[in-house]
Amino acid sequence: MLEKIDGIIIKTKDYGETHKLVTIFSNKIGKFNALAKGAKKPKSRMAAVTQPFINARFFVYIGSGLSTIQQGEVLDSFRIIREDIFKTAYVSYMAELTDKLLDAKENDSFLYEQFYQTLLWINNQDEVDIPVIMYELKLYKKAGFAPVLHQCSRCGNQEGLSKFSIREGGMLCQQCAYFDPEAVHISEKLSRLLYLFSEVDLKRIGNIRMKKENVQLIRKILYEYYDQYGGFWIKSRKVLDQLDLFIPNVTNGNSYNE
Ligand SMILES: [Zn+2]
Repeated sequence: MLEKIDGIIIKTKDYGETHKLVTIFSNKIGKFNALAKGAKKPKSRMAAVTQPFINARFFVYIGSGLSTIQQGEVLDSFRIIREDIFKTAYVSYMAELTDKLLDAKENDSFLYEQFYQTLLWINNQDEVDIPVIMYELKLYKKAGFAPVLHQCSRCGNQEGLSKFSIREGGMLCQQCAYFDPEAVHISEKLSRLLYLFSEVDLKRIGNIRMKKENVQLIRKILYEYYDQYGGFWIKSRKVLDQLDLFIPNVTNGNSYNE
């Protein structure tokens, strides 16, 4: 059956001499693999629509075996992302996380929309950490290991949430903080913001600024949290870490105010 499916290329792999096997995150059937015949020939039309992070309208033959892309037209090439090593690193990280954590052919149009909106944001704006964090939190929820952010992960108390515990899987209230001496202190304001990030549609966020040290703190907490519960090694995270290390601040600007 020939289907018209809008989606974003999240992984590509050579397949034989001239073909590519691509993984597409779509708004219709979730994540799926498809064969792109002739996509390795640089001048082929198929090559243009099967580059990493291309958003395209694909005409895909879906049968009992491997799906095959018959044709495609680029909707958004995200050129700015692909020409910027830092932006590429962020999107590679998001794409790899999505590929690893999402089950094949399980549709989630909200998550797809968040992925797409995050790419648009990264393409058009300089501050990119917060949208990426927002997407990660939603992806973790979809994958079934979201941290508990709206209440104490031990007693359900919704007040005084000021410690994040990797071990307990989320926030701890002041009374329960002693359960995990290694829990990281984060302000109540920041914990409320983190909960907001995990819930709200990125489209509803116009502009958001946070102190650089808070972004780094959340980044660090989420990395450790992922390492505890995520289960897959994320290769592209290393690139992101190295880029951040070599040239601090470059992707974050310097105008934070919480
Ligand atoms: Zn508690």
